[in-house]
Amino acid sequence: MMEHVPCNLCGADDADVVYPSTLKQGGDWRAFRCTHSGYGTHPPIVKCRRCGLVYTDPRPDGHDILETYEAVEDPLYIEEREGRVLTFEHHLKPLERLTGPPKGRPLLDVGAYTGVFVEIATQHGWHAWGLEPSSWAVAEARSRGLTMVQGTLDSAELAEGRFDVVTMWDVIEHLTDPQSAIREAHRILAPGGLLVVHTIDIDSLFARLMVPRWPWLMEMHIYYFSRRTLRRMLEACGFEVLSDRPQGRYLRLGYLMNRVGAVVPVVGRPAEWAVSKLGLRGAAVPVNLGDLFTAYARKC
Ligand SMILES: [Zn+2]
Repeated sequence: MMEHVPCNLCGADDADVVYPSTLKQGGDWRAFRCTHSGYGTHPPIVKCRRCGLVYTDPRPDGHDILETYEAVEDPLYIEEREGRVLTFEHHLKPLERLTGPPKGRPLLDVGAYTGVFVEIATQHGWHAWGLEPSSWAVAEARSRGLTMVQGTLDSAELAEGRFDVVTMWDVIEHLTDPQSAIREAHRILAPGGLLVVHTIDIDSLFARLMVPRWPWLMEMHIYYFSRRTLRRMLEACGFEVLSDRPQGRYLRLGYLMNRVGAVVPVVGRPAEWAVSKLGLRGAAVPVNLGDLFTAYARKC
């Protein structure tokens, strides 16, 4: 079932279509199971005329979306683990500059999936928990000894003031009601606690140059924040935004060359060989097109 929704930031029902639907036959959300497909296909994307929030409307209803996430199974994601480990290692540095040393304090990773960030945060000295709707991903994380709660911020009923840090890595753009998720994060944070939100930036230069072919326009993304609209929402929910700078990701050079080789073999194959020969396969390469950013916000 498709549903029509008002603006999640200002509540207005006054939006213009900015990117028309690219779905064939109206789309088949049920057929969509994998995090890797679906680039470039999306329902109509609209922009609120009052506040500028960009979102998908109409969209599959919240129940269908949650069912889809509960059923996600994606073994390919585990193969990409290395790049995610590197990215999260780098994301922890600016986080800990704001929080100080972890010292066993409680941290909740929302949408933790298979628990890569939970594991790294634990190694760094956080008492890290993951919250995740997919039962497959929760089982995967638990098999590595991680503390996981199956569910969503809505369903988990976590204790008020329970956590010093709540993180949302590439999650908020998938939520049906990001404002209520941010309010719930505020409730479960201790006074002065830190909320970290990493998402795509629809107002970034790269996005503006690329649209309508910006690869992040896709069916699984239902909110397209900018630094401005996310800041407004965080402030409306009782947070002070400390910073919201672009933050990219890290890949191993060997993996990157392998990907280049898959697209342009004439360049990628010799480059992959050279990288191996030089012993650089494991080198970390930052990839930052400026279209991903991280907001760090303190509970007031
Ligand atoms: Zn609005």
